[in-house]
Amino acid sequence: MTHVVVIGAGQAGAALVARLSAGSHQGSITLIGAEPHPPYQRPPLSKAYLMGEMAAERLWLRGAEFYAEHGITLRLGQVVAAIDPAGKTVSLGSDSIAYDELVLTTGSTPRRLPTAMGGDLVGVYTVRSLSDVDAMKSEFVAGRRLVIVGGGYIGLEAAAVARKLGLDVTVLEMAPRILQRVAAPETSDYVRALHQAHGVKILEATGLERLLGEGRVTGARLSDGRELAADFVIVGVGVLPGTGLCDAAGIALENGIRTDSFGRTSQPHIWAAGDCASFPWGGGRVRLESVGNAIEQAEAVADNILGKLTPYHAHPWFWSDQYDTKLQIAGLNTGYDHIVTRGPEDEAVSFWYFKGETLLAVDAMNDPRAYMVGKRLIEMGKSPDPVAVADLATVLKSLLK
Ligand SMILES: Cc1cc2nc3c(=O)[nH]c(=O)nc-3n(C[C@H](O)[C@H](O)[C@H](O)COP(=O)(O)OP(=O)(O)OC[C@H]3O[C@@H](n4cnc5c(N)ncnc54)[C@H](O)[C@@H]3O)c2cc1C
Repeated sequence: MTHVVVIGAGQAGAALVARLSAGSHQGSITLIGAEPHPPYQRPPLSKAYLMGEMAAERLWLRGAEFYAEHGITLRLGQVVAAIDPAGKTVSLGSDSIAYDELVLTTGSTPRRLPTAMGGDLVGVYTVRSLSDVDAMKSEFVAGRRLVIVGGGYIGLEAAAVARKLGLDVTVLEMAPRILQRVAAPETSDYVRALHQAHGVKILEATGLERLLGEGRVTGARLSDGRELAADFVIVGVGVLPGTGLCDAAGIALENGIRTDSFGRTSQPHIWAAGDCASFPWGGGRVRLESVGNAIEQAEAVADNILGKLTPYHAHPWFWSDQYDTKLQIAGLNTGYDHIVTRGPEDEAVSFWYFKGETLLAVDAMNDPRAYMVGKRLIEMGKSPDPVAVADLATVLKSLLK
């Protein structure tokens, strides 16, 4: 009887235990989560849930009965403080649990602003957990002034919700353009124009010197000396992988928890998946922060724990909803050297990232067909003729032949 212990009851942890219990796993399973809630989906936190259009129960990935029915012991609201790889135990303060196989699905935590920059002032929020969003929801009142630090997807989604609710919104981005880390200038231009059309002020190449206020935030001083008034602030400046348990346990790190292509860490019988784990990719290594990867990598690790030993081949995909625009991304654009644009046609436009003749990724705005075809092509390792892609007369599906 094997006991699999999983640390982190989020998207990856939930997918992993479900896969184990659906497979040939014969022993027991324990899923430990620091948060008080059953595993839930985070994407709606900066979309429908923040907007007040979704009840918390609809975030749960599975009903509580699922875990009980499948013999999965859920230990919620409990933090693993240490791992002892030699003794094969994890410690939860006074309690300790023995494992045969251990999986780290510890996710990531948002970067915070240092105290010296006003990061600890009341009214300064990050968006990661359900309790983060519950804490900030009452601030979203029409007419109030919100400053968002960081023009990445989460900050921009929060900006869209805030505008829809009638707040006055300014986004500060230190880099020359929003979404610079993840997207081509074409996508940044599209998203900037979308927000500006909805009345968001976007200040690019503009850093934050510090937040202002005593006790509670009242504004922001910018790198160019300007001051903005703010009733509250959201900080969306990226995340750090959840590696806090690793050093003391001798688990090697390399941009997160280093795993091999099977999901094994440097310590025997310890695996990792999801936001916290980096894995081999195209001659280097990558760490992905997306639902798709959390699920697919966790399922691959579950299969490997069950003895399948098959390498994980990631097929990255991601989405973001802002106003009525659905942005869908297939592939990873790292190393692209040119963009082919298809559209706009009606509300749809897509940007296709090529390296030489090889298709790497597609950003599709309100164009599910371009997303689906791009995703299939990338999965098949096929690259379409760029001229055909750009030609709106081309039926996209024909590119798959
Ligand atoms: C607001 C928001 C919007 C997003 N939108 C999208 C989107 O539109 N599309 C998309 O693809 N992705 C989106 N993501 C990213 C996606 O949600 C994450 O990539 C995904 O949740 C990662 O799953 P995970 O299981 O690795 O980590 P998580 O879901 O973060 O779960 C990790 C869990 O581990 C727990 N934990 C950590 N350490 C310990 C410990 N020592 N003891 C016990 N428990 C511990 C944490 O408390 C947490 O509950 C979004 C994320 C956020 C925050």
